Amino acid sequence: MTAPIDNLIMNYPLTLPHFFERTRRIFPKKTLATRVPGVGLERMDYGRWAERTTRLAGALKALGVGKGDRVGTFAWNSHRHLEVYFAAPCMGAVLHTVNIRLSAADLTYIINHAGDKVLIVDASCWPTLEPIRKQLKTVEHVIVMKDTPGAQIPAGALDYEALLADARPMETWPALAETDAAGMCYTSGTTGHPKGAVYTHRAIFLHSMASSMTDVLGINERDVILHIVPMFHANAWCVPFAGVLNGATQIFGGPNPQPRDIVEIVHNERVTFVGAVPTVWIAIDAILEAEPRWNISSIRCIPIGGSAAPRALIEKFDKKYGAPMLHAWGMTEMTPLGTVCRLKSYMDALSDEERYAIRAKQGFVAGGVDMRIVDDAGLEQPWDGKSVGEIQVRGPWVIRSYYDNPESADRFTADGWFRTGDVASIDPEGYVQITDRTKDLIKSGGEWISSIDVEMMIMTHPNVLEAAVIAVPHPKWVERPLACVVPRPGTTVEPAEILEYLRPRLAKWALPDEVVLIEAVPKTSVGKFDKKVLRERFKGWTPKG
Ligand code: AMP
Repeated sequence: MTAPIDNLIMNYPLTLPHFFERTRRIFPKKTLATRVPGVGLERMDYGRWAERTTRLAGALKALGVGKGDRVGTFAWNSHRHLEVYFAAPCMGAVLHTVNIRLSAADLTYIINHAGDKVLIVDASCWPTLEPIRKQLKTVEHVIVMKDTPGAQIPAGALDYEALLADARPMETWPALAETDAAGMCYTSGTTGHPKGAVYTHRAIFLHSMASSMTDVLGINERDVILHIVPMFHANAWCVPFAGVLNGATQIFGGPNPQPRDIVEIVHNERVTFVGAVPTVWIAIDAILEAEPRWNISSIRCIPIGGSAAPRALIEKFDKKYGAPMLHAWGMTEMTPLGTVCRLKSYMDALSDEERYAIRAKQGFVAGGVDMRIVDDAGLEQPWDGKSVGEIQVRGPWVIRSYYDNPESADRFTADGWFRTGDVASIDPEGYVQITDRTKDLIKSGGEWISSIDVEMMIMTHPNVLEAAVIAVPHPKWVERPLACVVPRPGTTVEPAEILEYLRPRLAKWALPDEVVLIEAVPKTSVGKFDKKVLRERFKGWTPKG
């Protein structure tokens, strides 16, 4: 008989205490910092952060937090938030990052549905929670962090710093399985109740390794990361975990950071890595245009996603500011990374025009994730750059179910894929191009119109700041596109001029019937165009002709 040959590698669990302990030993001198409004950066190092994290875990344990208990956070980005990011999962509890921008009704639903036992709240965010406090049935303790100078601890709440000062540090972590829940996050969905995605230790571990790959986000020890993507939105794209794994310098944006704060910190701290949604970069561009004294060329990578990044923006940040953008696509349900758009080495030889056309796509799938596109009839579509279908994914950091939400079972296929609800084509080189959310597609006279394509084209007009295209009902064509356009400040643009501009650039049926000028495109809690609000506003719109 031959000796057994399979399974001779240790079954070492992929859990977060590994990241924590490694970094505590190897990178204690590296810097963490948080922006304090009106003061500047409050600096500390990983050594002190690690000590504070073990104290926080000890304090939570003393409050009765145990295995599987939910520790909610309701906070801006800060080193304190990063303490909860590790204290909760390392002690076997679950970090639940709650989106501070949601409505009172959604917040009540989410916190009760998750069953948070403790809430750790920034003082500046407390006024949002206070009115619903009594309806939060499972919350036993509220702990408040002072995030602005002069902040007060509200009556009935515990003082975060006092708790840490009095705590007995937790020096050994309990044994954890890699399939244990480490974190959870509710999607800012536009229909029905928000749905919870629960991340295992394993998912976060593998995702962090993937984002450290040179060809993914390349997060490394030399990076100076500025966190602007909220830590309550898909774990700030999971970058804080990868930052700890690599001992990168991490700067947190603090309470309500504005585009000007971002520019200042990048300039002063020589930031190398800072992600945000396109709307933030559009605002930053306006500042850089007006005030050329700012230099952001220390940036090696701006991961940009959440919604499609306009090609002109990518090109301008490259050529004018020396700050390369990396278009990426993902979602809360994917921890969140799906694709990043890097050119292949042999594409260096392409023309400028061709290279930027590729870089405006969402890129190819990150190692670890499988992807396919499937049409309405359930047929897998070819990767020919023309056929479109819903993106379906599977992989070690993709959810296989929402938390306690049987109604959403139809988001998963019988053969084990997650239905993203995004519609895309994939070209023969593997580059994905998102054309829409399934619900944003416009069906006109039997032809599908991609609202994103039309928006991106309008946004190439020099006098346009932002554009959102929605479907409006039409008696003959069923639906027609209506373009809502925000002129660039200091310029004027006429609707007719935009239509003339688009005419040679779009298929005839995709040309919007009408362009209306608006002051600003409404945004969701995470900075995406909120088309729901626009649809409501224009629901009585009567088509011309
Ligand atoms: P969220 O879970 O809030 O991060 O939202 C995920 C959704 O944002 C995706 O399903 C897409 O519809 C959209 N999205 C994310 N990145 C991009 C991108 N680069 N281009 C277009 N849409 C995007």
